Order: sequence, then structure tokens, then C-alpha cells
Amino acid sequence: MSTTEFTVVGGGIAGLVVARRLSMAGRTVRLIEASDHLGGTVASHLVGGLNLDAGAESFATRGNTVADLARELGLGDDIVSPGDEGAWLQPVEGPALPLPATGILGIPATPLDKDTIAVIGLGGAFRAQLDSLIPWFGKRTDVSLGALVRRRMGKAVVEKLVAPVVHGVYSLHPNDLPLERVATLKERLALHGSLAAAVRSMRHAMPAGTAVQGIRGGINRLVTELAADLTTYGVIVEFERRIESAEALADLDGTVIVAAPGILAPVRGRTVTLATLVLDAPELDAEPRGSGVLVAPGCTKVSARALTHATAKWQWLKEQAEGRHVVRLSYNEVPAGDFAEVARRDAEVLLGVSLPVEAVVDFARREWTRPAPLAPAERTDGVVVVGETVGGTGLAGIVTHANAAADRLLALAAEGPADGEDAATGDEPNEAAKEVS
Ligand SMILES: Cc1cc2nc3c(=O)[nH]c(=O)nc-3n(C[C@H](O)[C@H](O)[C@H](O)COP(=O)(O)OP(=O)(O)OC[C@H]3O[C@@H](n4cnc5c(N)ncnc54)[C@H](O)[C@@H]3O)c2cc1C
Repeated sequence: MSTTEFTVVGGGIAGLVVARRLSMAGRTVRLIEASDHLGGTVASHLVGGLNLDAGAESFATRGNTVADLARELGLGDDIVSPGDEGAWLQPVEGPALPLPATGILGIPATPLDKDTIAVIGLGGAFRAQLDSLIPWFGKRTDVSLGALVRRRMGKAVVEKLVAPVVHGVYSLHPNDLPLERVATLKERLALHGSLAAAVRSMRHAMPAGTAVQGIRGGINRLVTELAADLTTYGVIVEFERRIESAEALADLDGTVIVAAPGILAPVRGRTVTLATLVLDAPELDAEPRGSGVLVAPGCTKVSARALTHATAKWQWLKEQAEGRHVVRLSYNEVPAGDFAEVARRDAEVLLGVSLPVEAVVDFARREWTRPAPLAPAERTDGVVVVGETVGGTGLAGIVTHANAAADRLLALAAEGPADGEDAATGDEPNEAAKEVS
């Protein structure tokens, strides 16, 4: 008889959260991880002697889920908000402009404010204002964010504001982003009747008005603390074991939770390449582009789709960097040639300052695959799935989803075995799973 009640496959943030929650409730848990370390896309690397996030570097504040987790892990005093300089936009043509500060995903909260007019022009702003007059019937649910915004606020808002932000956040055009993936926007639109009012209400719901927060020392500290809890609660972690297929799940003990992409369906994801530059460049002390720059799709001045001036965004990092600057650029496609040189030149254009080769103290490249959402037909009956393929993009959605999955598994386990069968010992390993998946 197996003593493992739950096997979690994948040690990214989703798998760690589920394994921790189950083991804290006294359940026996095994976690299987393909690589030699935990955390998945929440990772760190050393660049220019600085320990930096190599993947996720902030979390959305909505729902407070990640902040609550950080507090549970003893990181509450280290939750930090980014500086309030805001970000900039690099349009297809013309110079970079400040991103209107009050929007969500570039959708303006007040279409006629001066920063919005500066980006989309007066005509575009008047068109956007029509949003307040167009009734919302909300019948269609399969609409994209781009189609919705175009209908209510016009083309200029989609192409000049929303597209650069969505491109920077999701690596997608808003026409390819289902409205369902934008947390609570549809519900708030139904409630308030206009997009601008829905955006204002979303902003209002954010703690202290900030959409994202970070952790002093880096988001990767979540992984260190989660891993420590797994040890405390007796989770057995198997490294360097890859589960190759859905069929192989049947050989695992207890109720199986899939927290890794690529098992139930091949990963059809996009590759995102990150360039991190540590710079000795006093010109950047003035933080010319605030926390960074989002690049409009179709802009041919640079290859990057977004730049984060990390030392301007995070005060703790500025202190650690002791006068140097950390800049992070993301790419959907990396042009041929010397990537460090491409990144340096893109940083020069986007930040609007000269950055000679000697200014580059160190450079690092990381490549990640962002998995596509699992299609309903790819969900296998009786297999619990957590993580990015089902919980949405980003830590807030993934942690919320993983917490809920663990809670439902625990509730089912507490109900105990039915008809004399012990569902927690492997006789019917995925009976419980059928109800949570
Ligand atoms: C460059 C970048 C920046 C990002 N920035 C942010 C951000 O600032 N804020 C934010 O909220 N989100 C951000 N995200 C998204 C966020 O990091 C991810 O959505 C999240 O970390 C995914 O967690 P996960 O547990 O679902 O998957 P993963 O992190 O992918 O973890 C999956 C784990 O499963 C393991 N595994 C894979 N296959 C197998 C197998 N067959 N058998 C066993 N183990 C396996 C992997 O090795 C990995 O450890 C970013 C993503 C990227 C790529």
C-alpha cells in the first residue's frame, strides 16, 4: 500500500503552493521535478555580482493572494511597491511618451486627460469618450480585448495604448487576448456600463493604488521560503525526474496533481528571451523613462518589446546596485548577431541616452517558454491540473487557482473513502481529482 497520498508533478510556483498546502494539512506529499532546482519560471541569476530575478520580478496585487502567501512565508515586511515614476511608451513613430498613469492594460480611465491626448490625439480621445454613451449588453463572452476596446473606444486606443501594454505584458496583440483572461474587466463592465468606469473601479480595488508589488531581494525569495516549508512539512522532493506523458501519470502514487506544462499536451508556447544589462551609466541616474518602456507592435526602431529599468522601479535594488543600473529587455524574437550588442543598442534608443560599450558591466541572457492555455479537449478526466496552462498568466492567478485546487482536494480527502475504498492510498488515485479538475 502506498504511503504517498498526493504526487505533485512540477516544482514551479503552482506545484510548490499545492504541495505546501497539502503537506501543511498533514497529508503525505511527493513532488517530482524535472530539473535540479525548484521554482520554474520564478528563478534568479547573478549578473554583475547582483542576485537578480531571472524570470518573474513582480506580482499583481489583485486579490492580495501573492502578498498573503508572502506574509505566510515570513516575507511580509519585505513586500515593496515600485517607484511611482510610471512607465513610458515607444510608439511606432515619434518619440517615447509617458504612459497615462491611471489606465489598466493601456485602457484609459479618463479618455480626455492630457497624457492620453498626448498619445492618441484629440480626435482619438473624443472617440474614446463615446464609450460612456455606448450601452453594454454583454451577450458575447468569446470576444477579444482588442475587439471590445475598438468597439467602445476606437482604433487609436487599441493600437497606440492597449497594444504596446498588452504586447509588453502578454507578448500578444490585444486582438489575440481573450477578454476572459483580463481579471474582472468583464464583470466590472457589466456592473458599471462603460470601459472607463470599469477601469476606474479596478484601479480603486488595488491596494494603495498600485497594480503590482515586489519583494525586497527579489520574487525568487518566494521559492526559497516555499522550499523550506516543504522540508519542514516532510514533502519528499525528487529532482531530475521528468514525467514524459499523460500515460506515465498512472504509475504515480496517490492523487496526482499536474503542475508542469507539456505532459497533457505538447507545449505550444512562445519563446521569450530576456537580456539583462548591468550598466555603469550616470546618465541613467535621472531615470529618463521612469520604470521602463513598452514598445508598440510594429515599431522598427528596436527589436525589444519592453524594457524595465529595474533600479528605477525597485528602491531595494537601487541601494544594492550602489550607483550602477540594471536594465532588463524582453524579446519575442532575437535578431541575428551579438545579442548583448543588440540589447545595448535597444537600451540606448528606448532610454534616450548614450550607452557606450564600456558602460556595460555585465550581460546575461535567459530564454523561457510561455505555455499556451490547455484546450478543454486536452484536459484528461480525473487529472488535477494547476499552473500557467489553466490558472492564467502570472503569479496572482496561478497562486489563487493552486490554493483553490489544494483546498478542494483537502475537502474531498477529509470526506474520506467511499464504498470501503481508500481513495487516498492509491486504490482509486484520481477519484478525488475528478471532482476538482
Ligand atoms: C520572462 C518572464 C517574466 C515573467 N514575469 C512575471 C512577473 O513579473 N509577474 C508575474 O506574475 N508573472 C510573470 N511571469 C509569469 C510567471 O513567472 C509564470 O506564469 C509562473 O511562474 C508559472 O508557474 P508554473 O508553476 O505554472 O510553471 P513553471 O514556472 O513553468 O514551472 C513548471 C515546473 O515544472 C517542471 N517540469 C516541466 N515539465 C516537467 C515534467 N515533464 N516532469 C516533471 N517536471 C516538469 C519545470 O522544470 C518547472 O520547474 C513571467 C514569465 C516569464 C517567462
